[in-house]
Amino acid sequence: MTITFDQNSASSAPQPVRSPGHGDAFTDHMFTMSWNETDGWHKPGLSRLHDLTLHPGTIGLHYAQVIFEGLKAHRQADGGVAVFRPWEHARRFQRSARRLAMPELPEDVFVDSIEQLLRADQGLLSDDPSHSIYLRPLMFGADANLMLRPSHTYEYLVMAFVAGGFFGKALETVSVWVSHEHSRAIPGGTGNVKCAGNYSGSFVAQLQAQEAGCQQVVWLDPVERTWVEEMGGMNMFFVRGTGPGAEIVTPSLSGSLLPGVTRDTLLGLAEGMGYVPREEKVSLEQWRRECAEGRITEVFASGTAAVVTPVGHVKDRDGDWTIGDGTPGPVTLAMRDALVDLHHGTAPDPKGWLH
Ligand code: PMP
Repeated sequence: MTITFDQNSASSAPQPVRSPGHGDAFTDHMFTMSWNETDGWHKPGLSRLHDLTLHPGTIGLHYAQVIFEGLKAHRQADGGVAVFRPWEHARRFQRSARRLAMPELPEDVFVDSIEQLLRADQGLLSDDPSHSIYLRPLMFGADANLMLRPSHTYEYLVMAFVAGGFFGKALETVSVWVSHEHSRAIPGGTGNVKCAGNYSGSFVAQLQAQEAGCQQVVWLDPVERTWVEEMGGMNMFFVRGTGPGAEIVTPSLSGSLLPGVTRDTLLGLAEGMGYVPREEKVSLEQWRRECAEGRITEVFASGTAAVVTPVGHVKDRDGDWTIGDGTPGPVTLAMRDALVDLHHGTAPDPKGWLH
């Protein structure tokens, strides 16, 4: 496909963003492409970031036929920029599209669109290793039609922002609040893909967590309300023991939790670091009890935005507790360092995850 490049879109030598905010330091450009039943994917183009003009009856706005991805590019030791595991994100984007009855975007087109945007905007990324470019591919049903059916036309775009540290610069533990009232996802629902509706449905519980003085909400399984599934928009890990041989346990893929790319990366890294990675169910009561017994020593969350974020305190209707001494533990820090080194190309990349 020939990519059009809007002649007005060239930037005069962009200056690196020095203090990015939280999701609003948008980069200068965007990639766009359309789909219809006759032409398939067509009209790929790169342009200055601009507003969209949408008919008020656009299907995506009404019925949330909207999927997205989130992946990051980092400055490398050699001065270049590399994006982390774009092929894996491309495959998840395809799974999300299938689940929402949308056309799949070929993996190579997904990766190419990200490359195009990064080539245009990489100059905005400083060499501060805590900064990254967060890329947001998005696809939505574009028909102006309020019949309750899948759209016949779609728009795909990639935009990006320069990201600083997710929870601030110094690595501190976060406190979490367990939601017993709301569910993020249900069996047979859409929790295992990345669609917009999953997130709007979670905002009320996130606000309740904040009202309780916590930064994040912990989701339980929606059926038995017993098993820990996820934390906000992150996967969770429980550490049993410490040092080599420590178990790194993450809830198994239940169908209602999102298979995180970071989760998968950490399971792989853990093994190479002498830890024992496991995917198994962990109940809330087990979490509480094993912390009291000193068996669970550390808990952390993982995600593209959150990287590895240590959890220090749990607030629950049946009593609060602290994990370890409430500060980031050594296994959490080692896992985070290993992941960050991989992102920046300062650790071996045997699986070719950097692109
Ligand atoms: N769970 C949810 C609900 C998420 O939104 C995310 C972020 N995409 C994750 C987990 C972590 O996924 P990843 O490691 O692929 O960013």
